[in-house]
Amino acid sequence: MDLALTNAQVLTMTGDGVGPIEEATIGIENGDLVFVGPTAEFDAGQADEVVDCSNRLVVPGLVNAHAHMGLTMLRGGAQDVPEIEWMNRALAPLARYLDADDQILGARLGVIEAVCHGTTTVCEYAANVERLVEEVYDPLGVRVVATETINELADERDDLGPRDVPTLDRQLGANALERTERLFERYADHDRVSVTYGPQAVDMVSPETLREVTRRAEENDRDVHVHVAQGERERLQVEARYGSGTRSVDVLEETGLADDRLIAAHLHDATTAERKRLAEAGVRMVGCPSSIAAIDGIVPPVLEYVEAGGVAGVGTDQAPGSGRHDILEEVRTLAMLTKCARTDPRALPAWQALRLATVDGARALGLDDCIGTIEVGKRADLAIVDLDATAMVPAVETPFHTSVPNLVSSATGSAVDAVLVDGEFLVRDGVFVHADVEALSRRVNERAKAVFDAATDDWQAAGSALVDDASYGRL
Ligand SMILES: [Zn+2]
Repeated sequence: MDLALTNAQVLTMTGDGVGPIEEATIGIENGDLVFVGPTAEFDAGQADEVVDCSNRLVVPGLVNAHAHMGLTMLRGGAQDVPEIEWMNRALAPLARYLDADDQILGARLGVIEAVCHGTTTVCEYAANVERLVEEVYDPLGVRVVATETINELADERDDLGPRDVPTLDRQLGANALERTERLFERYADHDRVSVTYGPQAVDMVSPETLREVTRRAEENDRDVHVHVAQGERERLQVEARYGSGTRSVDVLEETGLADDRLIAAHLHDATTAERKRLAEAGVRMVGCPSSIAAIDGIVPPVLEYVEAGGVAGVGTDQAPGSGRHDILEEVRTLAMLTKCARTDPRALPAWQALRLATVDGARALGLDDCIGTIEVGKRADLAIVDLDATAMVPAVETPFHTSVPNLVSSATGSAVDAVLVDGEFLVRDGVFVHADVEALSRRVNERAKAVFDAATDDWQAAGSALVDDASYGRL
């Protein structure tokens, strides 16, 4: 055995609750969990390295089921304005000056931030995602679900109104499909990289390409990840393209995508009946609480989806608007928003929030046979929390485990002290092992100053409310 973590409090997340074990040991060999049980039943002599985890809580590595890490360099660049303004007049003028290298640089910081806050798996959604896998996720040792964006919208469409139907360029879709197939081939046998198709949204991809994705996904039993029912803009576009009364979920159903291979992000503009249909069809959902709260002022319908029998996980989406890549922060935000939306403190209790961050996130990404719980046979993807961190105090185990509510309602990912993926430490004693994070932050800051500076005229000309805010000394 390579490594044993002894004397820990463990939330295994097995069964229907959080599966707590006290005074527990976790044994790891070749990246697999080979022992999970009471320290009293473990022979420490079996392990090459023994790490005493007294005053530590071990949970399954957290799952970020939807993220665009390439936008991390624009954090703080667009917020507090309505979605269309956020996208077109606040974020876009800055994003135009972000080149491919900037996206990689920012993504590296975003992924490291996520890992330092307990995340071990990220579902990355990006165009040319291969570069992110190759230069960020793989070298950093992080588990990734790489989703290659398929988008057939031509670039120039500024003069179109919300009901004008832009031309879709099927060659763009064909190129993206080719990139995706290359990824499937390249990473077929990779332990930490899996791949999914990523038609961005049903208003951005032709029905022919959507059907082609369905055909390929069925043929090779692959997953498909789509942004679904994101709001008024998408609703108007779908109606304009497919006819009055047609909705995003109808298009998914008509093109054959609405089955258990589909991961549907957002769903806040779907109706309750549509969400029920998707849940019953086995579609998995991802909600992004901070992002959708910040950009749309909406509570993601995650709890409703789970109550309808669906599987759901959570994601951080992108840094501008929502803030940091911290899954504990996401489930706290979701729990609080859901309680408020229902005026019911019983809605989304801590144990359920923790399941969304771990085992349910793994199920949402189709990775639950290898991660999401702490049990023999799964991979050793673990987050270790310092129970002496002020937000985790008091950490008592009788008559119940205060770590459960404290982890959700009190702590953030800052309480995470160590993180392992495949049994390898990525964070140890609070320090990221494979990168100089301070130097990286400085580089991102330097480059961000150049990007924001170059974008200044465009940003001012775009005239979002943030321009006024800046001129009044509010930003
Ligand atoms: Zn997204």
